Amino acid sequence: MRKNTLRLARTTRWCVLIATLTLIWTACGASAAQVAQPPAPPESSTEAERQHELKVACLTGGGIWTLDGCRRPPENAPRVAAAPTAAPTATLSSKKTVDRANTSISPSNGCGGIINQEPHLLTEDDFTRDVIDCLVEMTKSDEPIHIIHGPSLDPDIVRGVQEAWRVGTAVLGAWGPLVVTLVQMNDPEAAAIAAQDCAKRRSLGSHVPEGPNACEKEKTAYFNTFTECCGATHDPPEPLAPIRAQFMTFASVDQMFKEGNGDVAKVFLHEYMHVFQNGGLVHTYQLRHPDGDGEDSINKHGFGPVWIEEAAAEYFGQRFATENGFWDTPQLRSAFEEALRAARQVRAEWGLSLRDVETRTEQRQVNEKCECGGALYYETGIVATSWLINRVGSEKMLRYYTLVAYQDWQDVFNDVFGLSLEAF
Ligand SMILES: [Zn+2]
Repeated sequence: MRKNTLRLARTTRWCVLIATLTLIWTACGASAAQVAQPPAPPESSTEAERQHELKVACLTGGGIWTLDGCRRPPENAPRVAAAPTAAPTATLSSKKTVDRANTSISPSNGCGGIINQEPHLLTEDDFTRDVIDCLVEMTKSDEPIHIIHGPSLDPDIVRGVQEAWRVGTAVLGAWGPLVVTLVQMNDPEAAAIAAQDCAKRRSLGSHVPEGPNACEKEKTAYFNTFTECCGATHDPPEPLAPIRAQFMTFASVDQMFKEGNGDVAKVFLHEYMHVFQNGGLVHTYQLRHPDGDGEDSINKHGFGPVWIEEAAAEYFGQRFATENGFWDTPQLRSAFEEALRAARQVRAEWGLSLRDVETRTEQRQVNEKCECGGALYYETGIVATSWLINRVGSEKMLRYYTLVAYQDWQDVFNDVFGLSLEAF
């Protein structure tokens, strides 16, 4: 249990972004359902369990789980008894030759049997191109966003998140299932929201702390720490889970909304970039971080240095927000000018550059030294991202994240941007 909790804590990434006046945490981990109070009665947990079983049966049977139930592609439709064929070529000896090499790889057979395997038993060789394709495909979903919140939340905030989700899926594709939990500052409904959040995670087969109400207690305590403005976190999908669900949690979302209407949408789009990026996170933890716990090494099958993940999320979050009317152009311009100013300042005052925050450990060390990590992996990173996009265009920049699922990120960096990270 402890191990699970630790793993869970590690997979939830926090990004801390300090704006001029606002402290915005933006994360670095869907139908709008109002939280029922009191916590769900036994009937609904039975219903949730039933839905979960149906969904797992659907996905492991090669279907796509939708609002209308299970949809199966024609080739995966349940087989009816085959009619006798005119060509009786099948012999006992030919059956023996069936092996992994000629077994088709699809969600119907758990991507060639890799789903639910013991992660530590897998090797690089198990992640063939077809397997990776299949796992990435399983991260996509045509299910609507699922939003969890308390009854007292301003409905405009929920509408804003739904609108931002429509924009996100239009520009980056539909990934999910995606669950977004909206928690207010000092939220009086924290316990009820926690109950819904945990129920949803269980129904999607995601890891939650074991023990009676352990998830609910932990989540409630966590939500009760939201006593100031504001931010969001994202939980990436679990690589070998039968449902590759992703989650976002907004902290003090009411305050974020007050700071500026468009900020909730901008933060959502930042997080949705992480949802998109994490479509390519298919390798097990052991393969991503063969030398340790992953904090002090650059993720072997990841996106490269922290800033490539974080700054690009912020760059595109701001840009998509502006292009779709959540932000106005002067807002975008002043955010960029602020990024440029902060990047110059951190360089002049501390002599720090992006090289100093390539790993999560370095990120923490820099923050202990000067609390200026944000000025590097966000502000300096945004300037660097803009430079790269000027060089190759935004489509190629976005393509970078889909290619790193297949190749070492350093090779992808070279191929996409036409220079090595060192040269950059
Ligand atoms: Zn982030």
